[in-house]
Parts: sequence; structure tokens; C-alpha cells
Amino acid sequence: MAALHDWLAQHADTLDQAESLSDEVLPALAAHGCFRAGVTAALGGVAGTHNDVRDAILGIADVARHSVTAAFVYWGQRSFIEYLLQSPNTALRDRFLPALMDGTLAGATGLSNAMKFLSGMEPLSVQGTADGDGWLLNGKLAWITNLRPQRFVAAAAVAPVDGSTPLVAMFASDDAGVQRSDNLRLIALRGSNTAAVRLEGVKAPAAYVIAPQAPEWLARVRPAFLGMQCGMSLGLATASLERAAAVAVPGRGPLSDNIAKAQAELAALTQQLLDGVADGRFVAAAPAMFKLRIALADLVQQALTMELHAKGGHAYLTQEEDGFARRWRESAFIPVITPSITQLQAALAKHAAATQ
Ligand SMILES: Cc1cc2nc3c(=O)[nH]c(=O)nc-3n(C[C@H](O)[C@H](O)[C@H](O)COP(=O)(O)OP(=O)(O)OC[C@H]3O[C@@H](n4cnc5c(N)ncnc54)[C@H](O)[C@@H]3O)c2cc1C
Repeated sequence: MAALHDWLAQHADTLDQAESLSDEVLPALAAHGCFRAGVTAALGGVAGTHNDVRDAILGIADVARHSVTAAFVYWGQRSFIEYLLQSPNTALRDRFLPALMDGTLAGATGLSNAMKFLSGMEPLSVQGTADGDGWLLNGKLAWITNLRPQRFVAAAAVAPVDGSTPLVAMFASDDAGVQRSDNLRLIALRGSNTAAVRLEGVKAPAAYVIAPQAPEWLARVRPAFLGMQCGMSLGLATASLERAAAVAVPGRGPLSDNIAKAQAELAALTQQLLDGVADGRFVAAAPAMFKLRIALADLVQQALTMELHAKGGHAYLTQEEDGFARRWRESAFIPVITPSITQLQAALAKHAAATQ
């Protein structure tokens, strides 16, 4: 991993601010076995600490300490892998898993829309018309990351036009009717291959169906999906608090104590996250997981503020720049990624009102 850390440390600013290395990040992660984390050995995975998705959460956190762009690419790829691992369609899993794990094929997750749909926040943006044993897909995914221009596969939730239960299906970039936009012009995370996709009469045969019953499947997959997202918060908060602790000099009021308290809180939240993902409690108790995601996002903001307080004016000197400016920009993404903090707060308020 040291070689990957070096590569990320060397290129983190470029990954954030330019598209020039967007082709290299997926192979760099794959070369270090990242996408095999938390996958059982029988399916080509590598042994880890937990041998389940917790290893991927910790792997994403480890990468996010150096680069949130790379961690987000990791999240997209590993989430797609998780969908296949949790799919009843084992033929689909066996067909695509090897290339996804070795990084020769990019996997993207267009399921933000589906997660918002699951919480009753917006309709599904892809419609399906029955076509033989499968579906014809039409619609748009406005934001989707890890769309390698060479080739990608992506997952989307599909609303059948006949009103039957939504499903989750995949499509590939070379399927007729798939149109990828240019990369979106982002203020950060620019090396993440993030674009929009339009689907016009795209054939998704039954062999491409990841889950025939989207609502219950999405609820089951959500802890892994959200848990891996939280990995980005864990890594970014860790990096920022490490820097804050390294430069905070004694005698500056409560700052050092606050940094130590935030580090202890981060350790406690990490443990709660890993335990909850492992024992399945978040499948039924989604609010507990939502609260954790909110607490971790808050901690990221606090960590960045403490790093700034510890550095003071030095944070503004380019000759002393050690990634602070990048972490500051990267941190803006944490509350925004779906389910966003605003959405989670709304969902918790709705839940509290319903249980009163
Ligand atoms: C760099 C980047 C990469 C991304 N990559 C992916 C990806 O790979 N896959 C993917 O699926 N998505 C991806 N997204 C999409 C992202 O997760 C959001 O879905 C996207 O930002 C648009 O949704 P929004 O809710 O922010 O926007 P809007 O729906 O316009 O909402 C605006 C604001 O209102 C809040 N809001 C909206 N509806 C409600 C509600 N009912 N209750 C309370 N608050 C509400 C939102 O949280 C947000 O704060 C990416 C986004 C970015 C910026």
C-alpha cells in the first residue's frame, strides 16, 4: 500500500483540479487490489481484517486520507461490485466480477436517484418498457462517476411504464442508445470521470437485471452503499485531524484538547459504523445509520476547521501548502453526496413525526 499512498500523495491535487490523470486512477487502485477488498476468496477477493464490506469501507477511508477523488472512484467501482455480490443474478456476477476487480472494466453507480426515490423524495428518472424477456430503457442519469470513456458498465433503478415494481438493471457504454456527456465541469474531484448519461431505447435483457424488486433490494444494499460513502468522511477527517494535531502547539487554549476529543469521537463513530454494517441492524434501523452519516459529515467540517485554526495564517501560504486547500474543497462534497445531509435530516424529521 505504501506505493499507492505515494502515488496518491503525489497526484492528489492534480486528481482534484484536472482531468489529466482520470485514466490512471482506476488502474492504480486496481493494481493494489483495492477492488478485491471485502470480496470472498472464492470469488477472487483477498483476505482482509473482516472479509466483508467493512474491509472496503476501511479501504476507501485509507485512500480518502490522501485523495477524495480517488476514494470516490473507489466507491463507485466497489459499490457496483457490491451490487453484483448482493444480486440474485449470479450469472451476471460471474460474468463481470473478474474485470471489475482487476480494473479493466469501470463500474458506475447511478443509484442516487434510486436512494432518493426510496425515501419518497423524487421519481425514478429511468423508465422501462417490457421488451421480450427484458426491458427497453429511456431516461437520464444527471450525475454519474467513474464513467471511463473507454468502456463502463453502470447500474440504474428503472420504473416500468406499466406501473409494476421498479427494478435495478445495468447497461454498458457500448450498448446502442447509451450517450455519455462530456465530463461535467466541476470545482473539485475533476479526475473522477463524472458525467451525465442519456438512455434512448437501450436494451436491458433479463440477463442484465441486478434486482427484479428494487425497493426491498435497495433497502438491503443501502448500509453497504452508505457505509462506503462514509469511508470518504472517515479518511478525510482522519487526515485533517492528523495535520491539525501535528501543527497545534500547546498553550493555544482548548484547541489541542478539542482535536484529541474529535479523534476519539471519530474512532467511536467508526466502530459504530463497522458494527452496524456487520450485524445488519441498519437494514431495519435506517435512522441510526442516517444519524451516523450526519455525525461523520459534521466531524469532517469540524476537523477542517480545527486544521485551519491550528495552522492559522500559515494555511494561506502556498509555500507551506500540504493539501489543506484541497481537503477544504474536497470536504464540500461530503454533505452533498446523496443521500445529502439535508435529505437525511428531512427523512429523520419525517420518521420522528411518524413515530410520535
Ligand atoms: C461530483 C459529483 C459526483 C456525483 N456522482 C454521482 C454518482 O456516481 N452516482 C449518483 O447516483 N449520483 C452522483 N452524484 C449526484 C449527487 O449524489 C446528487 O444526487 C446530486 O448532487 C443532485 O441531487 P441533489 O439532491 O443535490 O439536488 P437537488 O435535488 O436539486 O436538491 C438541492 C438541495 O435540496 C436538497 N433536497 C432535495 N430534495 C429534498 C427533499 N425532498 N427533502 C430535503 N432536502 C431535499 C438536496 O439534498 C440538496 O441539498 C454526484 C454529484 C457530484 C457533485
